[in-house]
Order: sequence, then structure tokens, then C-alpha cells
Amino acid sequence: MSTAENMVVERSKAAPPEVRSQKPAVDPASLNHSDLKSGEFWRDVFDVSTDEFLDHMWQMKNSLYGEKQLMKVLENVAPAKFLDDAARGFRLAPMMVRVTPYLLSLIDWNDPWNDPIRRQFIPLAEQLEMDHPMLSLDSLHEQKDAPVPGLTHRYNDKALFLPLNTCPVYCRFCTRSYAVGKETDTVEKVNLKINPKRWEEAYAYIQTRPELEDIVISGGDAYNLPAKHIRAIGEKLLSIPNIRRIRFATKGLAVMPMKILTDHEWFQAIADVEKMGRKMHKQVCIHTHFNHPVEITEISRQAMNKLYENGIMVRNQSVLQRGVNDDANIMALLVKRMGEINVHPYYVYQHDMVKGVEDLRTSLQEACDIEKAVRGITAGFNTPTFVVDAPQGGGKRDAHSYEHYNRETGISVYTAPSVKKDKLFYYYDPIHSLSEEMRENWKDPKKREEMHNDAKAQAQANI
Ligand SMILES: *Cc1c(COP(=O)(O)O)cnc(C)c1O
Ligand code: SF4
Repeated sequence: MSTAENMVVERSKAAPPEVRSQKPAVDPASLNHSDLKSGEFWRDVFDVSTDEFLDHMWQMKNSLYGEKQLMKVLENVAPAKFLDDAARGFRLAPMMVRVTPYLLSLIDWNDPWNDPIRRQFIPLAEQLEMDHPMLSLDSLHEQKDAPVPGLTHRYNDKALFLPLNTCPVYCRFCTRSYAVGKETDTVEKVNLKINPKRWEEAYAYIQTRPELEDIVISGGDAYNLPAKHIRAIGEKLLSIPNIRRIRFATKGLAVMPMKILTDHEWFQAIADVEKMGRKMHKQVCIHTHFNHPVEITEISRQAMNKLYENGIMVRNQSVLQRGVNDDANIMALLVKRMGEINVHPYYVYQHDMVKGVEDLRTSLQEACDIEKAVRGITAGFNTPTFVVDAPQGGGKRDAHSYEHYNRETGISVYTAPSVKKDKLFYYYDPIHSLSEEMRENWKDPKKREEMHNDAKAQAQANI
């Protein structure tokens, strides 16, 4: 026997090695990502049966539309001081209000001030912050990059198609507040109503651009597209030879997951379009928008199970928000919980520069720190990329890929060579994240210009 063979025999005779784990045991409490809220958790706010609560028609009918309807329900559940603060908040808010019973019943009404869902949907005057001086409506220049109304063609091979302007809920922080929701006192909207005639223009444009392979169908929200339009848009886009991938964007799974379970016509339309795409070897997916782990309940799991069993891939795009998910542990729990129900964490966006929601923005540094903490907790393919959607139409850039970032002034500078060559894109940390001295500097137009010129020069030196 050779020495090597000897060794094999000896090893197999030897007692099994003592198990010496390199890693300390995990605290079972840390595995709470799979514990989803179940039972009739809505009873304190809406005293209805499970059948009723799961009925999407009931959810739609009982969605609270406008401040008056919402306040009427809140009177029974929220502290008086909170109602006062909210009433003043609504007067200053540039968005239409709309929330589902599902969402309202997930809010902790004992402490609505700090609740992560409340923060996203109900403005409080006391928590509002001054807008950054560099902020504008449509900061992403979606309209400037639109060859036809409701179609933004910014990147080479993909475009954003906005067939409608309504959503099952209206989020305070919506980037698309230039178009979404009804007009409010403070904002004039661009008209992107459901209108198949208008869509023809978009299809015609897509057909003339062979480089376009990928269409994001957003709005608005695909949940609010009737089943016949889901079919018509899906089939039309799939029939265009250059189109390889389409995605229906909806916040629905996070705000009304029961629609997947009880709106059979809508679900079937999505499932059929997906099947049609699969036969053509084209991809049809859903992109959704969970921001906090409490938004994922046992109902979300059932909805996702149904989608997953039907082969429908769901990806998620979160927005990093102060007081909502700007905490590494919460973001980690969100990521693990999405993995648990087969939602693929795709992006976490640095909060766009949107009017009236400065209280929700964080500094870029926070995005970079949280990304570092989250990477490594789970499979790489379930780890979201943290991105900044560069204002002025630079598109999404990896948050860490700035050419220059001055943490004092809060100015970061990006380039986007594949989108707009030789242009610099600036993002600004919210004023509330800066020092007292810097807050003063931003009030002074001359100092503003100096800070800018400095950031520009430093970025150019780094490129
Ligand atoms: C986000 C976006 C897309 C899609 O980009 P991905 O990075 O592929 O998700 C396409 N067009 C516009 C204008 C967008 O904002
Ligand atoms: S669901 Fe999406 S598009 Fe609609 S208001 Fe919310 S963020 Fe905006």
C-alpha cells in the first residue's frame, strides 16, 4: 500500500472528529424573518371577517380617499394630538391621499408618530422639513427624456412606459408626483390617464427603435389597470420583435396583496401574459415596492406563493427612508423576509429629491453604510444594489460610485458614461443632515455657488 492509501484507511478507522464549529450558535430570536403577522390583525381598526378583508373589492371600496375620509376613520383609532398634527400636515402636502384598509391596519396606533407605514402615507406638520434649495418637481427629468407623452427613453435598451396615472395608494414621497394622482392645490399634473389611443403613439415609437428590448410598465400602478388592458398592453409589447422583456410595476403586493388571491380576472391576465412571453422566450415579471418588514404578512406570503407557483418572478425596489428603513437591522430583516417569500430584492433607492418630503430623505453616507452592513447576510442574488437615481436624468448609479462626495456640504457628483456622456450629475443630502454652519451656507446663493464650483472641480479632478 502506498502511503496515501495507508492514510485513508487510518483516517476511516479513527473516531469521528469532534464537531468544532467555527461560528457561535445563532440566537433563535434572530430568525424572526419567517414570523409573519397572521390572524385577524385588522379587527381593532376594521371589524370585518377574514372573507371580507381578503376580498379585493372590499379593500378598494373601503380605501380611504382624501383627507376627510381618512380622518374619519382615524378619529376612532388615533390619539387626538396626532389627528391635529395630521390635519395640519395634509394642508401642506402636495399629494393626493389614498390608503388601503390593509395598510391602515398594519400601523401601530399606539405610537403612530414613529410608525414606518404612517410616515410613508400620512404627513405630520410637526415632522416636515424645509425643502432643499436645489429641489424641483420631476427632478429625474422624466418628461424631458420623453419622446412621446408617457414614454421615457433614457437608457439605450430599456424604456419606461406610463399607461396610467392612478395607484391603489398614494405615497407621500412619490417621484412621479408630477403626474400621479388627482390635482391638489399645490401641484399641477401632467395628463397620463388610461387612454389606449395615447398608448398607440408609444407602441409606434418602440417599433421604430430596434435597440429597445425592455419596457417597464409603470405609472401609476399596474394594479389599477383593468385585466383587459393588462392583456392588451402585454400582448402588444410582446408582439414587437425587438422587445425581449417587460415588467409590470405595482406597489400592490405591499399595500393590497389580497388582490392576487381574489381578483381572479386580473391574476389570470398577468399569468396568461407571462405564459405567452415564456412561449416566445421573453421575460414577463412584476416589480414591486416593499419598504419595511411589517408590510410583509401571511397574506403577502399566500399571494407570493400563488405567483411563484405560476412561475411569475417578482422583484422589489425599496426606497431608503428616514425613520422607515434607515437602520441596518431593519433593512436586513426586510431583505431576509423578502427572500423568505420569494421576492427578489433588486434595488434600494437613495430617496429622490421630491418636494415636501425632506423629512424622509437620508444622507448618501447612510445608504453606503447600510449597504455595507446588509451585504453578506444572505445570498448575493438576494442582496439589493443601493442606487442613486441621478437627478437631471443620469439614471441609476451605484450609490458607492460617486466621483466626489463632500460630506460637509452634502454634495455628491456622479457620471453616467453609458447614459449621458461628459455630463456631471449632482445629488444633495437633505439640509437636516448637515451641520448648523452648513445649513446657514445653503441659505446664501453666493456660498451655494462656491460649494458647487468646488464639488465640480473636485469631481473633474477625479475622473
Ligand atoms: C429605472 C428605469 C428603467 C429601468 O432600469 P433598470 O435599472 O433596468 O431597472 C428604465 N427607464 C427609466 C427611465 C428608469 O427610470
Ligand atoms: S404606488 Fe408608486 S407611483 Fe403610485 S404614488 Fe406610490 S410610489 Fe408613486
